[in-house]
Amino acid sequence: AKENGRDQFHFYTAALHERLDQRLKIEKHLRKALERNEFELFFQAIVDTRTDRIVGMESLIRWNSPDLGRVPPNQFIPIAEETNLILDIGEWVLWEACRWNKTWQKQGLPPVTVTVNLSSRQFYDHKLKETIVRILEISGLTKDSLEIEITESMTMDVGRAISTLKELKQLGLQIAMDDFGTGYSSLAYLKEFPIDKLKIDQSFVKGIETNPINASIVNTIISMARNMRMKVIAEGVETEEAQRILKEYDCHYMQGYYFSRPLCGEEAAQLMSIRNID
Ligand code: C2E
Ligand code: CA
Ligand code: CA
Ligand code: CA
Repeated sequence: AKENGRDQFHFYTAALHERLDQRLKIEKHLRKALERNEFELFFQAIVDTRTDRIVGMESLIRWNSPDLGRVPPNQFIPIAEETNLILDIGEWVLWEACRWNKTWQKQGLPPVTVTVNLSSRQFYDHKLKETIVRILEISGLTKDSLEIEITESMTMDVGRAISTLKELKQLGLQIAMDDFGTGYSSLAYLKEFPIDKLKIDQSFVKGIETNPINASIVNTIISMARNMRMKVIAEGVETEEAQRILKEYDCHYMQGYYFSRPLCGEEAAQLMSIRNID
């Protein structure tokens, strides 16, 4: 047993070293990624349940590193957050999202809202509001062309978050609470945060067809949101059946592989021209 324990110890430290090593590699290459133009913004359609039209596009960042290959955002965003690189990356995402939305408008596509994931770190950026105003102005977009998605985080300074969000609300931006239902105190936040939309987390939406508990959670969130005059986006809609159930529940918006995977800007334009123009 003793031998065994030692082996396991070696195994764990080796695994830990490997993880640390990978982390350091990511961090090192991440520092250069912006100036080397290695990021690309992808977009995933958000569909209005009643009209079946695309009303929004969520921006999802992609990193194609020549050294590390494609690194998924779940791997590098947390590192970007710890190192404050997220401030520059987040600003790039805002510029790029607005640039694409303007491009689509110029192509004559029906107007959509582009949605940007904001890291809670960006709440500490005292220039955030100013930056967004400038980006909208220079991009030539109105305030209803941009929306913000936030996730609650344990390390967040709630007071700071609320005051930043209120500033963004005053600007006229809509704010959605992402991954709703998975956090530690979602309901408490709802009381204080100026939230317009709830995005029901994928883990509840997936299996809505087969899992009655998921179905009742989703249905309950939709009724609660309606009572609070908020709108609901269901994410992770992968099947026709899930979509049918969400229609029955009168969920406002849907998003997921059933409608579209995240696409590059050109492909997103194509999708909109197929779906949104009769
Ligand atoms: P999220 O904001 O919750 O984004 C939804 C994720 O689910 C995306 O993964 C999307 O590709 C994936 N997804 C969408 N529909 C389906 C579906 O039907 N089935 C399944 N299985 N997955 C689906 P992605 O693009 O890998 O992003 C992961 C996370 O990384 C995002 O989660 C978000 O938290 C973060 N992220 C992505 N882009 C940005 C960004 O520009 N800024 C910040 N701060 N975070 C970002
Ligand atoms: Ca999101
Ligand atoms: Ca989400
Ligand atoms: Ca997430």
